[in-house]
Amino acid sequence: MVCEDCEKKGVYISLSGRSLCSKHFKKYFETKVLRTIRKYDLLRYGEKVLVACSGGKDSTVLLNFLWNLVKKRENVAAIAVDEGIMGYRDIKLSGLVKFCEERGILLQAYSFKEYYGFTLDEAVKISKENNLDLKPCYICGVLRRNLINNVARELGFSKVATGHNLDDEAQTIMMNYLRGNPSMLARLGPKTGVVNNRDFVQRIKPFYFCTEKEDTIYALLNGIEVDFVQCPYHIENYRLEIRDFLNRLESIIPGVKHGLVNNFLRILPLLKKEFSTSRIECCEVCGNPSAKNICRACMIRMRITPFLRG
Ligand code: SF4
Ligand SMILES: [Zn+2]
Ligand SMILES: [Zn+2]
Repeated sequence: MVCEDCEKKGVYISLSGRSLCSKHFKKYFETKVLRTIRKYDLLRYGEKVLVACSGGKDSTVLLNFLWNLVKKRENVAAIAVDEGIMGYRDIKLSGLVKFCEERGILLQAYSFKEYYGFTLDEAVKISKENNLDLKPCYICGVLRRNLINNVARELGFSKVATGHNLDDEAQTIMMNYLRGNPSMLARLGPKTGVVNNRDFVQRIKPFYFCTEKEDTIYALLNGIEVDFVQCPYHIENYRLEIRDFLNRLESIIPGVKHGLVNNFLRILPLLKKEFSTSRIECCEVCGNPSAKNICRACMIRMRITPFLRG
């Protein structure tokens, strides 16, 4: 096979089934991301963006992309959160530190231990021993989002960018459909978060229409290492089941994930109208925006902290 644009050899297949050489694959990927940014008004000229980095491929590729895109270098920075997962996050983050140092990107590094007083491993242990029924991914997701939002707001960033791709979004849509959770569905999309609340920094997903496969190819073409270290808690993850299910379905019906996300976007305005939380309260403990009188992050802290030793 040869590239459809220049007839060179060495081809990569895009989501739309086109065969492209490395140069034209990069162009295809970048055009798609820029189109997403423009169409969904993700990032405006002069805005400051904080890239939420996990040390994994998707967020590192995104950091690289935005670093090259945004003209004023001080308008882009990275944030990394070490949740305290033994033998996992420390390994993942070491590559990110090197990546940022080489390019001169400002990296804000935080840990659950310093910020909340406990690691994720400690919280999971406490939850299990005391039957608190707090799942690892729930604790991890809520506390990480809370920390990143607080830091972004304090440092004056107007957007937090995440490396979520089309596969991630298809999984999240399916998970919430199956759980019968329309209010969570109403919170999805390429740009999320409360618009008119200065305490909440909006989150953007520039890779919303790029598949996992496309992300991986783009990472390799840009010399970004792709590692396969997995979080030890991922087996307790409902997402994993949905991911495998959608991958099986995609192999039988190509394009099914793309169809799922596109159809979802068509009904998203209706979901927002019907199920978005109209009133946002302030958390009585930390003052952050919250749908209830105490936010989920404070609720987790209040349940874990009494069991901490020392
Ligand atoms: S798999 Fe769960 S616990 Fe592990 S990093 Fe992801 S969200 Fe956190
Ligand atoms: Zn080509
Ligand atoms: Zn709170």
